[in-house]
Amino acid sequence: MTRMRTTTLPSGETLPVLGQGTWRMGENARVRKTEVAALRLGIELGMTLIDTAEMYANGGAERVVGEAIAGRRDDVFVVTKFYPPNATRERMAAACERSLKRLGTDRIDLYLLHWRGDVPLKDTLAGFDELVRTQKIRHAGVSNFDVADLEELSRLKDGFQRIVTNEVLYNLERRGIEWDLIPWMRKRHRPIIAYSPVEEGLLAHRHPVLTAVAKRHDATPAQIALAWVIREDGVVAIPKASRAAHVRENRRAADIRLTKRDLEELDESFPPSEGKKPLEVR
Ligand code: NAP
Repeated sequence: MTRMRTTTLPSGETLPVLGQGTWRMGENARVRKTEVAALRLGIELGMTLIDTAEMYANGGAERVVGEAIAGRRDDVFVVTKFYPPNATRERMAAACERSLKRLGTDRIDLYLLHWRGDVPLKDTLAGFDELVRTQKIRHAGVSNFDVADLEELSRLKDGFQRIVTNEVLYNLERRGIEWDLIPWMRKRHRPIIAYSPVEEGLLAHRHPVLTAVAKRHDATPAQIALAWVIREDGVVAIPKASRAAHVRENRRAADIRLTKRDLEELDESFPPSEGKKPLEVR
C-alpha cells in the first residue's frame, strides 16, 4: 500500500482523497462495535477524514465517531454538519456544542451547513465567524449548494473566503456537477467532497464495463468506482463502510490509476451530462 494521496484546502492544509462516511451508523446498538471498529481500521489505513452530521441517527453517528476517534483525535479530520434551521448565529453555537459533546472533542475540523434552508446566508456566515473565532471549528463549508447558491454566497462580504468546500453527490451515475460546479470550485482552489461515491453500494454490483475495467486492475467494481471519483485532484470521496472487508477494499482504490482506455470505456457506459442540470441531492 502506498501513502494516501492528498488534496489541498485554500489554507494549504492537506486532506486525504479518501475519507469515511457515517450515514446510517449509530442506528442500531447491536452493530455499534462493528461500526467503531470499521472507522478505526479506516483511520489506521489512512482514511482519516470522517464525515458525519447531527442528523444521522439523531446524533447517534456522531457518538460512534466519538468512540472511534477517542485517543486518536489528532490523527483525524472531523467533518460534521448542522441542520438548516440551526443556521442562525445563536442556534449554530448551540448545535455545535451538542456535536462537540457527542464527538467527545473540543473542536470540529470542518463544519458544514447540511443543505440550504430559509436562514439568510449572511447570518450563517456570522455564525461561522463566531465559531472560528472561539476555536470551536477550524474550517467552514457548505453541502448541497449548486452554482447559483455559491454565486450568491460569493456576492456577500467575505462570503466565499470563509467557505473551504462544498459536499455534493458525485459518482459515475451522477455526473451533472462536472458541467459547472466542479470547474467553479476548481477555479477557486476549493476541493469538493463527493458523497455516495459508490451510489449507496449499487456500483459495487455487477456491471459489465465496471467489471471489465476492474479485471484489468485486479480490482473490484467498487474500487474502480471510487478510483474514478478521485481520478483528478480536488475531489475527496467519503464512502461509508461498516464492514472491515469493505474498508480494506476501499482503501486500495486510492492506489489505482485509471488509464485513458479505462476512462473512455467508463464514459461510454456512464456518459457525462451534456448540459446544465439542477444539482442532484440525496
Ligand atoms: P456510499 O458510500 O456510496 O455507499 C455506502 C454503502 O455501500 C453501504 O451499504 C456499504 O456497505 C456499501 N459499500 C461500501 N464500500 C463497499 C465496497 N467496497 N463494496 C461493496 N459495498 C460497499 O453511500 P452513502 O453512505 O450515501 O455516502 C457516503 C457518505 O456520504 C455518507 O455515509 C455520509 O457521511 C455522506 N453523505 C452526505 C450527504 C449530504 O447531504 N451531505 C448525503 C448522503 C451521504 P457496508 O456499510 O455494509 O460496509
